[in-house]
Amino acid sequence: MESRHAQLNPSALKPSALNPSPPAYWAMSLEELADKLQSRPRALGLLRWLWHRPPSAPQSLALPAQLEGVGHRWLSLLRAHLPATWPALVQTVQDGGGACKALLCLNGSLVEAVHIPQRGRNTLCISCQEGCTRRCAFCATASLGFVRHLKAEEMLAQFFLLRFLKPQAVRNVVFMGMGEPMDNIEEVLRAVRVLTQPGGPCLRAQKVTVSTSGVLPGMQRFLEESQASLALSLNATTEAQRSLLMPQNRLWPMGELLALLRHHGKRQPKREHFIGYVLLEGVNDSEEDARRLVHLLEGIPARVNLIPFNVHEASPFKAPGAERLKSFWQQLQQAGLRSLVRWPKGQEVAAACGQLALKAEGANSTRRGRNSTASQEAKT
Ligand code: SAH
Repeated sequence: MESRHAQLNPSALKPSALNPSPPAYWAMSLEELADKLQSRPRALGLLRWLWHRPPSAPQSLALPAQLEGVGHRWLSLLRAHLPATWPALVQTVQDGGGACKALLCLNGSLVEAVHIPQRGRNTLCISCQEGCTRRCAFCATASLGFVRHLKAEEMLAQFFLLRFLKPQAVRNVVFMGMGEPMDNIEEVLRAVRVLTQPGGPCLRAQKVTVSTSGVLPGMQRFLEESQASLALSLNATTEAQRSLLMPQNRLWPMGELLALLRHHGKRQPKREHFIGYVLLEGVNDSEEDARRLVHLLEGIPARVNLIPFNVHEASPFKAPGAERLKSFWQQLQQAGLRSLVRWPKGQEVAAACGQLALKAEGANSTRRGRNSTASQEAKT
């Protein structure tokens, strides 16, 4: 039988959980911290200092020499597991609509994250891999290939460093940056736990969304172990069409992915799933596609996010015109399927979905010298 991982370098799928090094203190759960510091109040004091400091305070992950209520001895214990270099913001690029793409240096890897302003509730889009383990034909990140899985502490550092780029609080986090979260499930689950735990950033689980290209075993585990939201990037309405766009569909066919959501929906009918659907002109945007999509999602508590294709040079596809888009959306609405069009934010700076491929653009960029930032934050 063909291996389900056959098309990938096996080391790409080696679970990062096998990595024995414990996480840096900011990626520990409350229980782990309480255990390490031998006191829950001490752990909560540390979390308050870490996640609830005002925007005007220095936003560094470096531990202070002294911290009231925690004590020097306990801080020294936490210093034993710090990354080789501090996570650093290297560059930020802002577009006219306010979206801000950030380039970060995480233990030598350059990855991107995006801060997306929305009325009253900002969203952060974070990366879980350098490059991507999957090869979707329309995605710019896929063209980079896979470099490595990020650790939970590196995902959380993206949140930590970007959250105050805009004044309004960040209420949503989407794992829709670079990478396939379900291929790095252990670390993604850890990051989600920390984002939603008491004493931490305290985001509501439903406001954290993990998006997948459809890696069945990871989806099963995610639905069992997390209450965060799941988004499935469907992007097609027949198996043949999907296999061309997303080669892994040959291993985990769309029918099996949707059967999982349908089955899970019976057990937790109130838990809604998001279905991502990138519209590609002349490929998956016909009336017939809209009809099939409605049919495919029957019995699944789902909301559809229609995403007009964001053009980039690594892919030949085009976005459909506004009229086609509108009638596709109307067809779904008329059939009673909840759907909305996700107009791209951050296109000017190539920060929209599927455009994250490490290019510095835009005149408004603020480049912070990689070395100088790293040395400013040199490990203490
Ligand atoms: N690997 C995960 C998360 C990263 S991609 C996944 O596939 O879901 C995040 C979203 O962007 C997915 O819904 C994906 O289908 C979409 N996407 C990728 N490339 C795109 C492009 N060029 N234009 C619009 N959406 C794109």
